[in-house]
Amino acid sequence: MIVCVPECLFCGIAAGDIPATKVADGERTLAFRDASPQAPVHVLVIPRDHYPNVAALVAAGDAGKGLLDELIAVVHKVAAAEGIEGSGYRVVFNTGPNAGQSVEHVHAHVLGGRPMTWPPG
Ligand code: AMP
Repeated sequence: MIVCVPECLFCGIAAGDIPATKVADGERTLAFRDASPQAPVHVLVIPRDHYPNVAALVAAGDAGKGLLDELIAVVHKVAAAEGIEGSGYRVVFNTGPNAGQSVEHVHAHVLGGRPMTWPPG
């Protein structure tokens, strides 16, 4: 784990150097609206510390202890706050090139507010 990577977009958002529309602000996590929403609700949930992807967070062992649990708890809290807890929502961690991960700072997409197709394509 690296606390902050200067050239990382989401580290910049976590530090408050890059603007974002925050929806939940925690000690170890942050949730903000995706700049290019793919659904009526599209929020990203990130750890403040820098892990390139979910695999790196899992591999971090003790350093990332409990963080994945915390991210999922925030995902659920955001879904409830956005009013999509009952209608349902999708949680996506794009990991690596084949998944189309474009920002290398682990993030959960929370998508909802409309029916989601499956498979996503
Ligand atoms: P991924 O392709 O899974 O890495 O997702 C990265 C997401 O970050 C995309 O959905 C982008 O729309 C979103 N994104 C990129 N830049 C920003 C930004 N400055 N603020 C909020 N969301 C962003």
